[in-house]
Amino acid sequence: MRLDKFIANNTAFSRKEAKRAAKNGEVIVNGQPVKDLSQSLPANAQVSVFGQAVLAIEDQYLMFYKPLDVVCSTDDGYHATVINVLTEAALAAGDEPLLAALDADINLQVVGRLDIDTTGLLLITSDGQWNHRVTSPNHSCGKTYRVTIAEPLTETAKTQLEQGVLLDDSVKPTKPAEVTIIDEQHILLTLFEGRYHQVKRMLAAVGNAVVGLHRERIGELHLGEDLQPGDYRTLTAHEIASF
Ligand code: URA
Repeated sequence: MRLDKFIANNTAFSRKEAKRAAKNGEVIVNGQPVKDLSQSLPANAQVSVFGQAVLAIEDQYLMFYKPLDVVCSTDDGYHATVINVLTEAALAAGDEPLLAALDADINLQVVGRLDIDTTGLLLITSDGQWNHRVTSPNHSCGKTYRVTIAEPLTETAKTQLEQGVLLDDSVKPTKPAEVTIIDEQHILLTLFEGRYHQVKRMLAAVGNAVVGLHRERIGELHLGEDLQPGDYRTLTAHEIASF
């Protein structure tokens, strides 16, 4: 990889800024100032810019417990964002690789958004291809929601959800879903696609309403009991490869 690309990928400096720094003798590779950043990064090289070591930023694959009232989108000026909460948690944990990634402004993406009033399992990554794989309709891994409902679910409504219902913006019914009734106020609903506000709209389509929504599972990944709202953990290689 070219030196200017390595610096731009792993720091907040653009290639242009890196070039200017190199001209001023501020890019050091293995102890020597380097002026020409078009050359390749030597193997195992130590690189610094303005005296700061440049470390290769690793791709991030995280499981995050989204709390209530936190938005998945970028800053709306009113609510904390997932990235705000994640940054606080990374600071508290002293997680250097993640802090370096956040500091270098890498593109951390939320994999399949949750509404502001939905809690639970969210995946976050810097790997666009992996994000695409997890959310691709062709892949269609199951996502399980624990839904608190306004009215007990009737047998007719259960069958409708299982077979597919029509949502107002589409002539295509929803894909067959799996439904488990837990009690009069709670069901588990597993979906194999991801449409806008899908759970809320499916329940509305069968004459019910969502009072609370929590995502427990995506594919093989379960939120589990170790994480509290606002906590995260890195995924294992096996979990990353499970999609
Ligand atoms: N379906 C919804 O209605 N909301 C969510 O946040 C996720 C799925």
